[in-house]
Amino acid sequence: MTPLTSVIVDQITRFGPMPVSEYMTLCLLHPEHGYYTNRQALGAKGDFTTAPEISQMFGELLGLSLAQAWLDQGSPSPFVLAEIGPGNGTLMTDILRATKSVSNFHTSMTLTLVEASPAMQARQKTTLDKYDVEWADDLTALPDHPLFLIANEFFDCLPIKQFRRTDEGWQEQMVGCEGSSLNFVLGKATDPNAFQQALERPIGSMIEISSASAAISGAIAQHIGAFGGAAIIVDYGDWISDGDSLQALKSHSKIDPLTLCGQADLTAHVCFQDLSQAASHFAQVSAMASQGELLERLGITARAQALASSMQGETLENHILAHNRLTHPEQMGTLFKAISITPNNANLPAGFNL
Ligand code: SAH
Repeated sequence: MTPLTSVIVDQITRFGPMPVSEYMTLCLLHPEHGYYTNRQALGAKGDFTTAPEISQMFGELLGLSLAQAWLDQGSPSPFVLAEIGPGNGTLMTDILRATKSVSNFHTSMTLTLVEASPAMQARQKTTLDKYDVEWADDLTALPDHPLFLIANEFFDCLPIKQFRRTDEGWQEQMVGCEGSSLNFVLGKATDPNAFQQALERPIGSMIEISSASAAISGAIAQHIGAFGGAAIIVDYGDWISDGDSLQALKSHSKIDPLTLCGQADLTAHVCFQDLSQAASHFAQVSAMASQGELLERLGITARAQALASSMQGETLENHILAHNRLTHPEQMGTLFKAISITPNNANLPAGFNL
């Protein structure tokens, strides 16, 4: 039993089963034992690898797409360049390197990172030590300037609630315990019509709701709608939420999400329809593209060839594998999706369509 499992078991014993959303928040961000609070999460030595940790091309291409959107909007100055959930800081480093030669981009920007874990903040401070970085607790703390924002594999770690359709209606799936081991239990039934979008789902099906994700997507769009800018959101998931997607990863393998609390990454599929709907009240949201399509449109093949021309042997082989991993339909190419958010009537960032 991990130290966090005993904290959770104690809480459930005293107060009863907890929603999956509360369980996720404790596992990821408990101040002492949370996964992002106390571990080297990302990279080959961690539990999972993100696209920027696989290849520099990911951040370079997305960074240039954001910079093009900034040029299209008349190179506003000052503006905020932001990342939410910046991990090791690798993605932002690649964005900054690629945009170095975009005239006035760096001199006009304030660089802001939104990161919940102090340990991850410390890592970002080291990676980005050449830059003047500010950390914000959330998007409401940003100044009233145009916002150019990136979020990769951020929304998948925001808490979800799960509801299962039963004969009685929709019952929330909760985390309970038997002795010292955690299990899933179903809570009180809600009205069978509680979820408009799920009226047709058969008995036994599950839907997942992330109010935090919708709130943050809405807040990004509200800022961009009011002050200008562009956001690119990339994550694993699909247009609609379908089925139980709660997943735990430990040393790059899937494990039972109720074991190793605080020592495994815990995520859920992102529902892009919910992100889009929340954002479209305030700004223009692009059609969803797969990561593979998006990177192809941004010219990953040409960039890969240019980089390959100075590589040999194992480095070259790894580079080819990395390109494949980012774009191939059986790897991250289809599983990961992207949308952009821009002010109504502004040009979409390069790589996106309406
Ligand atoms: N974008 C990075 C890292 C993704 S990992 C990359 O592509 O490599 C997820 C990141 O989000 C971590 O830095 C984690 O600490 C942070 N995070 C998780 N929950 C958060 C929250 N509620 N608010 C802000 N940051 C959060």
